[in-house]
Parts: sequence; structure tokens; C-alpha cells
Amino acid sequence: MSEETKKPGGLSRRDFVKGAAAVASLAIGGAALTGRPAEAAWGDLPQKWDQTADVVIIGSGFAGLAAALEARSAGSDVLVIEKMPVHGGNSVINGGDFAAAGNKFQKEQGINDSPDLMYKDMLKAGSYLNHPELARIVADQSLAALEWSENFVGAQFTRLNFHGGHSVKRSVQTVNASGSELVNKMMAKARALGVKFEMRTKLVRLIADKEGRIAGIEVLKGYRFPNEKTGKPAFIKASKAVVLGAGGFSNDVRLRQVHDPRLTDKFDSTNHPGATGEALLAACTAGAMDVQMDWIQLGPWTSPDEKGFGHVPLFCERLVGYGPMIDPGTGKRFFKETGNRKERADAIIVIGHPVLIMGDSYAVTKQVFPNALKKGMEAGAIKKFDTLEEVAKAYNIPADKFLAEISRWNSFVEKKKDADFDTMIFPEAKPTATAPFYVARLWPRVHHTMGGLVIDKNAQVIGFDFKPVKGLYAAGEVTGGVHGAVRLGSVAMTDCVVFGRIAGTNAAKEKPWS
Ligand code: ADP
Repeated sequence: MSEETKKPGGLSRRDFVKGAAAVASLAIGGAALTGRPAEAAWGDLPQKWDQTADVVIIGSGFAGLAAALEARSAGSDVLVIEKMPVHGGNSVINGGDFAAAGNKFQKEQGINDSPDLMYKDMLKAGSYLNHPELARIVADQSLAALEWSENFVGAQFTRLNFHGGHSVKRSVQTVNASGSELVNKMMAKARALGVKFEMRTKLVRLIADKEGRIAGIEVLKGYRFPNEKTGKPAFIKASKAVVLGAGGFSNDVRLRQVHDPRLTDKFDSTNHPGATGEALLAACTAGAMDVQMDWIQLGPWTSPDEKGFGHVPLFCERLVGYGPMIDPGTGKRFFKETGNRKERADAIIVIGHPVLIMGDSYAVTKQVFPNALKKGMEAGAIKKFDTLEEVAKAYNIPADKFLAEISRWNSFVEKKKDADFDTMIFPEAKPTATAPFYVARLWPRVHHTMGGLVIDKNAQVIGFDFKPVKGLYAAGEVTGGVHGAVRLGSVAMTDCVVFGRIAGTNAAKEKPWS
């Protein structure tokens, strides 16, 4: 055991980890979750490795793929494993919005922005719980990350959007309004550069040597999610490093309830089914520290009338600042439409029933991506009405109160000043007055887990001794601290690409351990 792993009071990091793992196994069955006794966390190298790569990456979303591209470009031999049958995780189904301070669309539209302002917005939304040095890196490198996604990866971004909680419009959206534009181009580029991919291969354990350095991983090959009895065990050696880009745990009801007991299976999630936390727990079992696990974000813009992420988020988020959100029980507005996700989701949950977002034909035509509108309408989640009276009737809203409230909202839009909730009303917004009117119901769903592994500015995972866990990097939603209490919309892509690139670059610089 090296001197540096000694802890005050004579406890070594190894003892500390064993103790922590034992506590974890008592609390949540940690050993059962990783399929291994906690004592096997350190020192137990396999007799024979089945496979070797310089850098082994877990997860094929934005974070894992950005890491893969950088590590490969730096000359490393790179293997990406993915437990699902298809690549992309949540990244491939997200809305394709990427926050970048000072981007060319902002310049064209005369919008002043800066990394400083983005950093301030992130900290304000995050209730100042963000690890400042990490948030600072995301804001400072946001534009470079976008330009890399365009110029190196070849993804196309074509519009500028607003997301609640940002002080300006700063989110550029992919040409197809989906993260698939970036993910699929990252995959193609990675394949062209010689990155190897293995689908249906699930990380079950990180393997550390006697000093706690991560030497490789244990996987199940041919794994068929979610059947834990499937797959054949194998050992993969990571000569340089392992990078975790395994995403969050929004669909892991057991783990999310450990941290926020309110989030029972009654709350749906927007995430892909594989958004479960076993990779994060495997890292903790190997000595990684976690942070802010109980900050779990609900998206306020999902609809109970469609499944998963759906189309309504793209409808709702484009309409805030152009059209009102209404509580059908009272016929009145109830919260700042351009508030951040947590504020809005909390306000809806307090009301206790689905609320409405609406826009008239001017707002919808100007703002909403036509395909999102079409698909939302086909799914029956977005409805069209010729008059406001019909809207009131369809949602059982007290008509007189509703009509008075729309007049009041329209007077605010004309003055560009919301005297009730201080919603940001955009310069081009017009009164909600031109038929037809489009309406969707909203009820929050679990969307993003802000907590996760502690990393430093080099994307190295930090252990219980506050030192980097050698050979282990992480980026994206599997990490914690970047966003603090609340992740702002469209900063996930930025975070994943910025820290994925840092993780891949630094993993490739590691000296092979044998
Ligand atoms: P991020 O946005 O942070 O990149 P994503 O959800 O887009 O996260 O991608 C994470 C990917 O990691 C998903 O495709 C998910 O299936 C994969 N993944 C999660 N856990 C494991 C695991 N234990 N083994 C292999 N892949 C995993």
C-alpha cells in the first residue's frame, strides 16, 4: 500500500472503501447490485484478460463518444462498450439543443452573451451548489465544443432557441431537432477513425490493482437488457484508462428512491430504459466518491398524453415567452413560464393536476419545429382549436376567468412586461389572439440526475481520499457537481462534449500500467 493512500487515523483508502462498500451493501444491497462481494473491489486482477484496449469507454452517448473521438485522435486504441442493443442512450433521443456562449446565431441576431454570463446563469439555477471550477470550464469551453461538433464531427446546427433559466437565447439546435444528428455523426466519425464498438456488453465491475489503480473491467457480453441472467462474463484490460460515460439513473427507481423517496414508480421518466445506475455504483464500490445524488430533475414540459420524452417538450419550450401556461382548474396563469425547470415542475406538482401550455397560430408557426408539431398532433398530445371558448370547453376551464386571463396576458405582451410573474417576453412575441390555438397538457417526468461521481477539472474521478482514482475518468450525466441543484436546459450537450473531450484527451495521455 503506498504512503499516499494512508488516511488520517491510520485508515487506508482501501480500508475506507471496504467499509463504505459494506455500508452500501447493507443499505441498498451494493454487493448484489454489482454482482460481486465488496472485498473483491481491489487487488483481485483476473488470471487472464479476454481483451485489451488502451482506453475502454463505458457508454455510447455524447460523453462517451466525445471521449472516444479525442482518445482515438491522440493515437490510443479505443474500445466503447454499450449495454443496450443500440447506441446513443439519452443523447440520441434528446432535443438537440446545445448551449454555447457567443455563438454565430447570437451574433447575427445582435444578442450579447459571454462565458461569464453563462457561468452566472448555471450557478444561479444550480442554487450555487455547482462545483464552480467545473461549471466555469463548461461555460468557457462551450463555444469551442460547439465548433468542434460542427467542424470536426460534421453535425449541423440551424436555429437559435431559448431555454428557461438562461438570461439570453444561447442554445443552438441541430438541423433535425434531435441529438441523433450529433450522436450519429460522432459514431460515423469514430468508426472511420478505427474506434471499436461492442453493443450488448455491460459493465458489471471495475477491476483495481492492489494500489487501487483501475486496471480493467468485468463485463457481460451478449447481455440482453434488462434480463440480468443473460450475458457471458469476460475481462477487458484497459492499459491506459477507463472512461465512464454511462449516463444518469432517471430510470433506476430503486436508486433514485434511495436519494429522493418521493420519486416512486408513479413518476415516469423521459429517459431511455437503460438509464440505470449500476456503472455509477460500480465506480463507488471501486473507491469513487459521489455527490448531490438527491438533486433529481423533473422536466416540467412533458405531457401525460404521450410516452417518454415525446414531442410536447419541443412545443412547450419554444412557446414559453410567447404564450401562457394556464391552470385549467382556475383559468389563470400560475408561474413564470420562462422560469427554470425545477421552479416550474415544483409549481405544477403543487397544483396537483396537469396544466396547459398554449400558443396562437403566429407563435406556433414562428417558433415550433414543424415536425414536432405534426408528430405531437398525430399522437393526440397537441390539440388545435378555432376559438378560445373551445379551448375552455375542451379542458373544463372556467371560461370567463380564462378569457379575462388571456386579455391580461396579452396586455403584458404588448407592454413586453409581465406584471404578475416577470416572465421574459421576447421582442417578437405578439398577443395570443390569432386562431387557430394550439394547446398541450403538461405533467412533469423524471429527466436528469444532477448528482453522480465527483470529478476534477481533468475529468479524473475523485476517491474517498479526495485524490484522483488512478486510471478512471468520467464525463456527462454519470458525474455530479457541474450543474448543482438544477441543470439548465441545453447545457447537458455542452457538459457532455466539453468533459467527454477532456476525459478522452487525458485518458490517452496516461502511461500504460503494464
Ligand atoms: P450522456 O448524456 O452522459 O452521454 P447517455 O444516456 O446519452 O449519457 O449515454 C450513456 C450510455 O451508457 C447509454 O447508452 C447507456 O445504455 C450506457 N450504459 C449505462 N450503463 C452501462 C453499463 N453498465 N454498461 C455499458 N453501458 C452502459
